[in-house]
Amino acid sequence: MGRKLLLEHINVPGINTFEVYRKKGGYAAVEKALTTLSPDAIVEEVKKSGLRGRGGAGFPTGMKWSFLAKPEGVARYLVCNADESEPGTFKDRYLMTHIPHLLIEGMIVSSFALGAHASYIYVRGEMMPQIRILERAIAEAKNAGFLGKNILGTGYDLELYVQPGGGAYICGEETALLESLEGKRGNPRIKPPFPAIAGLYGCPTVVNNVESIAAVVPIINDGGEEYAKIGLGRSTGTKLISAGGNLKNPGVYEIELGLSCEEFLYSDEYCGGIANGKRLKAVVAGGSSVPILPANLFLKTINNEPRLMSYESLSDGGFATGTMLGSGGFIAFDEDQCIVRNTWNFARFYHHESCGQCSPCREGTGWMEKVLHRLENGHGKMSDMDLLVDVSKKIEGNTICPLGDAAAWPVASAIRHFRDEFEWHVTNASEAVTRNYGLAHYADPLTKAEAV
Ligand code: SF4
Repeated sequence: MGRKLLLEHINVPGINTFEVYRKKGGYAAVEKALTTLSPDAIVEEVKKSGLRGRGGAGFPTGMKWSFLAKPEGVARYLVCNADESEPGTFKDRYLMTHIPHLLIEGMIVSSFALGAHASYIYVRGEMMPQIRILERAIAEAKNAGFLGKNILGTGYDLELYVQPGGGAYICGEETALLESLEGKRGNPRIKPPFPAIAGLYGCPTVVNNVESIAAVVPIINDGGEEYAKIGLGRSTGTKLISAGGNLKNPGVYEIELGLSCEEFLYSDEYCGGIANGKRLKAVVAGGSSVPILPANLFLKTINNEPRLMSYESLSDGGFATGTMLGSGGFIAFDEDQCIVRNTWNFARFYHHESCGQCSPCREGTGWMEKVLHRLENGHGKMSDMDLLVDVSKKIEGNTICPLGDAAAWPVASAIRHFRDEFEWHVTNASEAVTRNYGLAHYADPLTKAEAV
């Protein structure tokens, strides 16, 4: 049984209330941080922990904090990115729903460390229940003296605000989020300057993901070095994985980083294997934007090493044979699921969500969607696969924000690993349309035994 740092008390009745959360040791990190540690000491603990951003990029959180500019007389802000919109990812929503005080406690400690006196939780606009839950939890924390003026008599003041998001995927990109928070259209900004220098209202700002901020609580309670003992190599600590697709046990799991992919997928403690007696065909390991992997490459690296749920192991082999941990949005595809249809579905999403500022993304995502749509609907050509790869290459790395890459990678990787399935849609067009799914045409879906 892996250690649980974030979800340890998730099943305790009433843990979403201040009273029960406090009885279970909640807000001890705030007491420790505000009464015994300096802001710099907290930043040091987070650095020692090796915590990496849990929103997808995996950038070291302590280092990101240390980049924050501190000009005299200028406000600093902490903004929590709770705009979770990546298809397949629902772990932040789970955390906010069931244990909202963990996020609020992390926000207080992190705001203190950064010298922020007004902090924001920017929540995806569709998540109205979670917005209400957070507002109630903030009111409870304030009543108990953990927010507002002179917290715990230390002289530290903090106001925490919940801001509903603008309803666009792109508002999860940190600079688009800041634009939206300022009341403008959520268009990503050209960087530099980075938010650490000029963020919200032009002031130094740190934007962190929900899970990253929640992880600051066990780091302060136990110390950064203790946190760093969990996990593997530079993948320290635990990670929330939202597991979906055709699994026996879909849900949100907290894993110790470094867990084997095989154990995560097949053990009853986690996903329990593929539902309905089917076999695994492919996996999206970290949200819709990361490269898709066929079953064999998800379970073993190209060097025949067991693949692990860690930043390094999942990316072993680069994009040719690896992928990314990303946001932890895990999607399993069984042998009957159609990769072409799924790729089209992802492409449709990114085309819809492109803000349109840069041509490669605006035009390229639309082009990819159209070509995939015709392939899926029996009008594809054999040359379409090369065309898709070409368009994806022209998008990748040529855009203002990462949405362009996020749109390109799923398409390029699906063709890289499942070109035969795309070709089947051309040579067996009428069958592909009638069935609407790939079914058994993918000749050799790997079984677990074959792959291992
Ligand atoms: Fe907008 Fe796409 Fe350019 Fe990002 S990459 S700024 S979403 S057009």
